Amino acid sequence: MDALLPITCAADVPGKYRGTPLSLLVEYQNHLRAHDAYTSAQILVGMCMDNRKALDVPENFAYILRTGGANMRASGFKISYAISVGGVRHIAIVGHNHCGMVNLMQRKEAFILGLVEGAGWNREKAENHFLNLVPMFEIGNEIDFVLSEVRRLRAEYPKITIAPLLYKIEDNNLCFIND
Ligand SMILES: [Zn+2]
Repeated sequence: MDALLPITCAADVPGKYRGTPLSLLVEYQNHLRAHDAYTSAQILVGMCMDNRKALDVPENFAYILRTGGANMRASGFKISYAISVGGVRHIAIVGHNHCGMVNLMQRKEAFILGLVEGAGWNREKAENHFLNLVPMFEIGNEIDFVLSEVRRLRAEYPKITIAPLLYKIEDNNLCFIND
């Protein structure tokens, strides 16, 4: 079973997501469909803060939450808001390849030095900051992490349709992750 399902036409979308805002999100992003007009949000997209990524979706179409690694652990209130007040019933959790939240330990020294030199922190404060928070923000592997977030959120919001997606930095296209 391939982990990734590339979408080059609407018919490639897995059956359970066809005809939903999750399919529309991918169709817009992959330039398979012209923008439609919306007056209310259709979907919540949780994606990484990475600067190499931008969504090409219509105005009003989506709530977008951006965090390191599409890690939604600290975003519960905002997700609940998008559902309860915003009225969305579909959520896309979008990871991407080459994510900076993978192997954070490799960037420990750069992180500490960057805070010392760039932000005026002392070394001890920067080191403690990194070591205290790295367990919450390390995602391990992009695909496995997105799948684990989707499973967690499905248990939390059982009536909401939630799909795992991957954004490819090379071509800015979205694909579904086989779940
Ligand atoms: Zn990332």
